[in-house]
Formats: sequence, C-alpha cells, structure tokens
Amino acid sequence: MTKPVVAIVGRPNVGKSTIFNRIVGERVSIVEDTPGVTRDRIYSSAEWLTHDFSIIDTGGIELSDEPFLEQIKQQAEVAMEEADVIIFLTNGREGVTAADEYVAKILYKTKKPIVLAVNKIDNPDMRDMIYDFYSLGMGEPFPISGSHGLGLGDLLDEAAKHFPEDDAEDYGDEVIKFSLIGRPNVGKSSLINAVLGQERVIVSDVAGTTRDAIDTHYTFDDQEYVMIDTAGMRKKGKVYESTEKYSVLRALKAIERSDVVLVVLNAEEGIQEQDKKIAGYAHEAGRGVIIVVNKWDALEKDEKTMNVFTQQIREHFLFLDYAPIVFVSALTKQRVHNIFPIIQRVSENHAMRIQSSILNEVIEDAVARNPAPSDKGKRLRIYYATQVATRPPTFVVFVNEPELMHFSYIRFLENRIREAFDFEGTPIKIIARART
Ligand code: GDP
Ligand code: GDP
Repeated sequence: MTKPVVAIVGRPNVGKSTIFNRIVGERVSIVEDTPGVTRDRIYSSAEWLTHDFSIIDTGGIELSDEPFLEQIKQQAEVAMEEADVIIFLTNGREGVTAADEYVAKILYKTKKPIVLAVNKIDNPDMRDMIYDFYSLGMGEPFPISGSHGLGLGDLLDEAAKHFPEDDAEDYGDEVIKFSLIGRPNVGKSSLINAVLGQERVIVSDVAGTTRDAIDTHYTFDDQEYVMIDTAGMRKKGKVYESTEKYSVLRALKAIERSDVVLVVLNAEEGIQEQDKKIAGYAHEAGRGVIIVVNKWDALEKDEKTMNVFTQQIREHFLFLDYAPIVFVSALTKQRVHNIFPIIQRVSENHAMRIQSSILNEVIEDAVARNPAPSDKGKRLRIYYATQVATRPPTFVVFVNEPELMHFSYIRFLENRIREAFDFEGTPIKIIARART
C-alpha cells in the first residue's frame, strides 16, 4: 500500500523542523542507535487518527552552495514532485514576507492540494495575525503553534481531507517487489537498464500504476517481479536530484514499498557514511537486503581484491551481516545475470515460515548449549517460541520475565536460528513476551 505523502515547505525559520518533529513524535529508531548511522530525519512515517502517512521536511534538503532563493525554490519543487498534500508554512509573528510570496508563486504552478499554516500563534490572542495571510491566495490559513503543539489536529484534518483514495496497488504475494537504492552516481539507473536488458527478462508492463512511481512489471524464469520507483531513479536533470539528502528521501520511499532492497555501492569510491545510512534504513524497515557493488570493472584487481572489499563491507555494515554481496558491472554486464536469482532467494527467505516444532527444537538445543542468563538471582526461563510473522521473519519467545532477555542472548538465539535455517538476506526479529 502506498501511504499518502505530506511535505512541509516554507522559508527558513518559520518552524518546519519543529512541526515535523511534533507530527512525527518521538520514535525509537534502531537506525539511530546503530553506530555510524546518524540522525537524518527529513522523512518519516506518521499517524493522525486513522491515517498513516509519510511526511517530508523539505527544509532538510540543503544545497549549501546555492543562493537562498534558489534553495527555497528547489525545496518547493521537491514538495511538488513528491507530495500528495503540501503544507505551506509561514510565521505569524513576522507577517507575510517577500520570501513567502516567492514560495507562493512557485506553488501556484502545482495542481496538488496546499494547506496554508501560520505558525508561532502561541496563544488565542494572536489569532488575528492570520488574516494577513489570505493575501497569499492559498485559501484559509490555519493558525498553529509548533512549540506548544496547538492547532496541529485541525491542520492534519484538513491535510487528510486531500489524501488520495488508496490506489490499492495489490500485486499479490507471489510477485516480488524490489528496488535499487544508493547514493547519486553509484550506477542505479545503469544497473536497472542492464538488469532489464537481459535476454530472459520479459517486461510486461511499464505503467503508472501508482500516483507518482512508475513500477515496472516483468518476468524472469517464471517468477514475476515489480521494480519499484524506477521513475524517480531514471528521471534526472534537476539540481536537487543529485543531492545526497534527496537520495535518502528517494530510498526511504522505495524501501517502504519493497520486499527486497538492493543497496548499490560504487566500487570506485568505496564505502561512504551515506551508504551506511541508506542501508541502515532498509535494515530498520525489515526488508530483505542485498549489497550490490557496482563498477567492478573500474578497479585494478588481483585475486585478493574481492575478499578485501567483502571484509570492508562486513566491518562497515555490521548490522547487515546477513546480506549477500554481489560484485557487478553495469557497464560490462559482469555478473548482472546473478542478480535475479539472488533476489528470488532472498525473497523466499524473507517470506519463510518455520514450523513451531522444529523451531522449538532449535531453541531448546540452543538453551542447552548456552543456558539462559540470570540477573539478580533470577534466571530467564524460555517456555516456547513461535513464528508470528514473515517479511521479515518474526519470532515471539515466551519467557518468565522479558527483562531478563538481554540483547546479547537475543543475538545468540538469532545466530542459532540462522545456523539452523537459511535466512540469508533477511533480517529476523525476536521478541520476548511474558507467558500469561
Ligand atoms: P525551520 O527553519 O523552518 O525548520 O524552523 P525551525 O523549526 O528550526 O524553527 C525556527 C525557530 O522558530 C526555532 O527557534 C523554533 O524554536 C522557533 N519556533 C518554531 N515553532 C514555534 C512556535 O510555534 N512558536 C514560537 N514562538 N517559536 C517557534
Ligand atoms: P545513479 O545516479 O545511481 O542512477 O547512477 P548512473 O546509473 O546515472 O551512473 C552514474 C555514472 O556512473 C554514469 O556516468 C555511468 O555511466 C557510470 N557507471 C554506471 N555503472 C557503471 C559501471 O558498472 N562501471 C563504470 N565504469 N561506470 C559505470
């Protein structure tokens, strides 16, 4: 299912990031706890009443060497391109400024719904300040206060009125949905072309099946696939599209709709912080992950190069120790034919279901080898385990006291489960629950 996307635009200092954080709320994120993966919150999922949506803080897409007005323009363009509903944010304390008018002028060009919000209306006495803002020609201004959390409900109600009907993109469980993500210039579009250009690939449909993504449907060895969001990857040319923040935004959108994600690295440039960040999101989202090292042709190699590179990847992507790695060249097509079989395998593992009886044998055996930990005189007791979900495989382990189930023991159980079953390419989740 595609969630509606809301983007916040407006000149600097009106309170975009404050509002974004208010709406998103405090989420605990694994990525943010993963070393080397720093906070990068310009895109997040959020909820309002019964609505699930994604929200973008366009103010986070900085183009440091662009002049002020150019930055605002590009942020507004991102919103017009990516969002279903745009929240145009202004500052009630300063009234309408020339920069607000400039933003309005850009936004006039879009047919997408725009909700005008006047921020920093911190108390009811200040409400009169909103009238000025009718002059922007964006309809009724909504008074809000980001710092005090006022008016956000009404604002989101209004935004939700404009959410598109769910376009129920239902591909069925047998269809594998995947995407390629990565920094600009790692070779994503070249790889897509190389993968789709293979003889055995039958492209059945390239249709605008969803609101803003063009999904490509095809078949390879009788398996149906949908490649997510190729439109955004193949369509290029605008300045902001080559920024790293924008590539994160793109990646997050693609990850959301994929079963399996191909994290593309550039062999020539090696591993960069941004690669880890992007990969971290795929891991956190519980998707199947494959690491694809592209531009393998561009390296001077000897018999050790691949091992050395593999080791570097393992060191830098500790949290992705389950992900297979492929070394390819979009240019020479080297090993490109391996990509589909790996996607298929990872997708199967991602959807795998383990019988409870077999699972419990593995757990019992693990506990016998390495007794459950105790703490303050109390020992963890494991009663039984069961798989409660797939994509990713999720296990609930019933215990006497969940607090006694430390991270290291979960990790130990995970390793035993991975040894017993082929979960290559998929994260697995283990949750401790008290038996009632
Ligand atoms: P951005 O540049 O548009 O993302 O703006 P920020 O969210 O960084 O906010 C700019 C400044 O305005 C910060 O100092 C915020 O604390 C302040 N601010 C944000 N919302 C409000 C509000 O509702 N009332 C008041 N008084 N200050 C606010
Ligand atoms: P994207 O931004 O990730 O979609 O990257 P592109 O597919 O646009 O590729 C960026 C640049 O890298 C282009 O100049 C490509 O020709 C080049 N490139 C892509 N794949 C390869 C490869 O396998 N080997 C070499 N040598 N260059 C490549």
